[in-house]
Amino acid sequence: MAGLSAAARARELGGAPVVYEKGTRAGGSMLLSSCVIWRFREWDDFRTECPSGDELLQRVVWERLDEGIAWLESLGAPVVAHETGNPRTVGKRFDPSGLTDVLVRAAGDVRLGERAIGPEILATGGFQGSAELVAEHIRPAGRLRLRANPWSSGDGLKLGLERGAALSAGMDEFYGRNMPDTDFSEGDFVPAAQLYGRYSRVYNEQGQEFFEGAVSWSENDLVQTTARQPGARAWYVLDDAALGQRVRERTVADMVALAPTRVDPSDLPFEVPAGARVAVRVAPGITHTIGGLRIDEQARVVGAEGLHAAGADVGGISTGGYASGLAAALVFGRVAAEGALDRL
Ligand SMILES: Cc1cc2nc3c(=O)[nH]c(=O)nc-3n(C[C@H](O)[C@H](O)[C@H](O)COP(=O)(O)OP(=O)(O)OC[C@H]3O[C@@H](n4cnc5c(N)ncnc54)[C@H](O)[C@@H]3O)c2cc1C
Repeated sequence: MAGLSAAARARELGGAPVVYEKGTRAGGSMLLSSCVIWRFREWDDFRTECPSGDELLQRVVWERLDEGIAWLESLGAPVVAHETGNPRTVGKRFDPSGLTDVLVRAAGDVRLGERAIGPEILATGGFQGSAELVAEHIRPAGRLRLRANPWSSGDGLKLGLERGAALSAGMDEFYGRNMPDTDFSEGDFVPAAQLYGRYSRVYNEQGQEFFEGAVSWSENDLVQTTARQPGARAWYVLDDAALGQRVRERTVADMVALAPTRVDPSDLPFEVPAGARVAVRVAPGITHTIGGLRIDEQARVVGAEGLHAAGADVGGISTGGYASGLAAALVFGRVAAEGALDRL
């Protein structure tokens, strides 16, 4: 998202950018996503929900997102829904494949399977694709299955560090979803996500209810806490009331039906409450890292002269919570292009 947005903006401003794409196709994780590009409706909610994020960077995303979305529409990106479905947020849902096509066209020169020598804007999508980097930074945590494109393995982070870059807060944080605790493929990333922890009794393998307080609406707090449990897994235990709840267009029962790891509660090795109907073994899938390179409001990498960065290579925006990764990638992709062309 960030690289294509940067290139499209740079070309619009008269530059001649080249996008070097390591993968076999364009679009990165954006193409696999639900493609809801959003911000908190109220500024104060952004601060409350992501309290340890860099306030100056958050402000840029919050103030420039609407203009970014209007720009995508002006390029012809197909909108699927003009609302997010969450009263606390505003934004639009795009068709990911249509959005990718539009951005590739507007970016102009996109070279698949190639790596840049001396890139000016880093936009490699974070380091979740590297098991080594994940183990180094996101600890303590068990193994995290990848729920993202396979190519974002920290190349931007490594290159930035070689150039003297500073790191953001939250290097041990990630955004993800609790998934059935079994291997899954790209086509399962969205439908198989088990997004009903808030309606469940949640136990670890030792039968302890480990999550304290209320689970947030994004459930990213529960996902990260699950990663830190023995074996990095949890059991969601549900009764009839929980199974009947709705999350967006689906019921909890619909999501449970797609989990091959569901069992009868009587098969669990610990006591469950009366009325429990089903239990699902879940484990976190990592979608993207939350920590990364530190930038300023003009997307310049702090400590690395002449380098810009955007997207999940950048850290410190949704730290302490969860905010739209596509929104940050879109806004700072455009800002980076403007900065690289000295148009700010
Ligand atoms: C299933 C799923 C659902 C999601 N739903 C949403 C949602 O609804 N809303 C939302 O805001 N976010 C969502 N996200 C997250 C969102 O997709 C990411 O936050 C966003 O794509 C990050 O943008 P990016 O440009 O940093 O990374 P990407 O979009 O992944 O792009 C990074 C690109 O860099 C390429 N690359 C990596 N290394 C190199 C290298 N060395 N040289 C050249 N190219 C390289 C990769 O191949 C990739 O194409 C979702 C993600 C997934 C997987």
